Amino acid sequence: MTRLVLLDRDGVVNVERPHYITDPGDVELVSGAAAAIRRLNAASRHVLIVTNQSAVGRGLIDMAGLERIHDRLRALLAAAGARLDGVIVCPDPPWAATARRKPGPGMLLEAMAAHAAGPAETAMVGDDVKDLEAACAAGCRRILVKTGKGASFAARGLAPALEPVAIVDDLAAAVALLLAPR
Ligand SMILES: [Mg+2]
Repeated sequence: MTRLVLLDRDGVVNVERPHYITDPGDVELVSGAAAAIRRLNAASRHVLIVTNQSAVGRGLIDMAGLERIHDRLRALLAAAGARLDGVIVCPDPPWAATARRKPGPGMLLEAMAAHAAGPAETAMVGDDVKDLEAACAAGCRRILVKTGKGASFAARGLAPALEPVAIVDDLAAAVALLLAPR
C-alpha cells in the first residue's frame, strides 16, 4: 500500500505560472487539488510537497518569502479541509545542484526516511520528467499529471527507463488511482 504520497508543487498542487512564483498572490490551487489532498488525509496517507525552488538560489526570493508563499498555499488548502504533512524545498540553482534538486532523489529520500516509508510504499506525483527521474532514482512509484507542464511531456513521450509511469489528467485522478484497490 502507498502510505507516503509526494507531490511536486507547481503544476500539480498550484497552477503553473510562466514566471517564478515570488508572491503569495501568485498561488492559485489547481482545480480539484484540495479535495484530492483531503481524500489522502482522510485515508491516513502522509502527503508532502517536494519542490525545486531555484528562485531562492537565483536570489529572486529568500527563504522567508518562500515560507510566506507556502503559508498561503497551506491556508488555501485548509479552507478546503486539506492539509500537508510537510513541505520539503531544494533552493539549489541548476548550476550548483546537489542530489537534493530533482532529478536527484535527495528530497524524496529525506521524506521517506522521515516517514519510515520504503520505496514500495511511496509514490511521486509530478508534472515534469524531472519528478519522474527523481522517483526512479528513489525507487518509488511514478505518476505524471497532465496539468502544468505534464501534457506536453506526455505528448513528447517518456524514456523507456522511466516506465512504468501512470499518466493521468490531474491530481484528483492520481489520488483516485492511488486509493483504488490494486
Ligand atoms: Mg512542476
